[in-house]
Amino acid sequence: MKALVLDEIGSSFRLADVNIAAPIGREVLVEVKASGLCHSDLTASSLGGWPVPAILGHEISGVVAAVGPEATRFSVGDHVVASLQSHCESCAACQQGDINMCSNPGFVARTEEQEPRLTLDGVPVTAVANLGGFAEQVLLHENNLVRVDRPIAHEIACILGCGVLAGAGAVINAAKVPEGSTVAVFGCGGLGLTAIQAALLAGASRIIAVDVADEKLEYATKFGATDVVNSASQDPVAAIRELTEGGADYVFDFVGRPEVTKQAYESVGRAGELGVIGINKPGATLEISIGPDFIWNQVRIRPIFNGSTNFLRDIPQFVALYDEGRFKLDELVSRTISLNEVNEAYAEMTSHIGRTVVTFP
Ligand SMILES: [Zn+2]
Ligand SMILES: [Zn+2]
Repeated sequence: MKALVLDEIGSSFRLADVNIAAPIGREVLVEVKASGLCHSDLTASSLGGWPVPAILGHEISGVVAAVGPEATRFSVGDHVVASLQSHCESCAACQQGDINMCSNPGFVARTEEQEPRLTLDGVPVTAVANLGGFAEQVLLHENNLVRVDRPIAHEIACILGCGVLAGAGAVINAAKVPEGSTVAVFGCGGLGLTAIQAALLAGASRIIAVDVADEKLEYATKFGATDVVNSASQDPVAAIRELTEGGADYVFDFVGRPEVTKQAYESVGRAGELGVIGINKPGATLEISIGPDFIWNQVRIRPIFNGSTNFLRDIPQFVALYDEGRFKLDELVSRTISLNEVNEAYAEMTSHIGRTVVTFP
């Protein structure tokens, strides 16, 4: 099958013919129909942390093509969405339904004694996050999949796998933003836009979008932003403090740069909360004053992984909200491309508005 292979950390992706094994145990072979371009793949491809050659891509929607003899939850022909929330079902966190805190996520992988799932000219190929969605097919443990029972196009459904969960989940599941709160969102890419929508659903009284691009800010108003702040031309901290009489109740940082995280922290009002979702580079530090005001203000800092969601529970919920016309997803996907256009699309990702999705015939 055709797949985009990363041969070395920092290099671009190469289209190659990769051999994929047949499903064993509880594995499921999925014919990929759509695969979203998430910014964290770009970060990951330049930072590494796993063996290469590797296949990236972790926002997958597809159709089940074959199931292993012990797979119980899926049948051939099912529409499925994949998630990077690898989990074991038996540790304390999994037992409590907190699968994104699973202490044994390696459970979903094959063991070293088993034949590798993917090989290229006889060499094992790593599927990053056990997914590897920039490929015509993926072979996954069934714990990385959820079935979608309502009609939704693959190129829309795939973004539920990461972007939507991470953005909306930060607001709904992690911060649990209460009705009437004031919210500010730093970074209006795909995740930020879903966070803005989620804040609207939660009944936030004011939703301030912050970005350096006017076009992104204008787009944010379509998703529910009540105010916009261009942080390239104005001080976002002062602007948010003014709009919210002292600071927002909940501020979300989707950017992943220390100076932005600091601005986001300083934009939070007393007893408010900063949610950090954007991933900073290894070794990055946050320098904030811990003088008397630090205690007086009682601002909480909450790092949030994948929206603190349980994808098995939350993806079907977002599909239902979409189906009822209460959650915009179509507008988040701004273009579809083919596998061999991925390098080009990543090169211009920061200036592109909305999600780019690879589709397969
Ligand atoms: Zn992602
Ligand atoms: Zn577990």
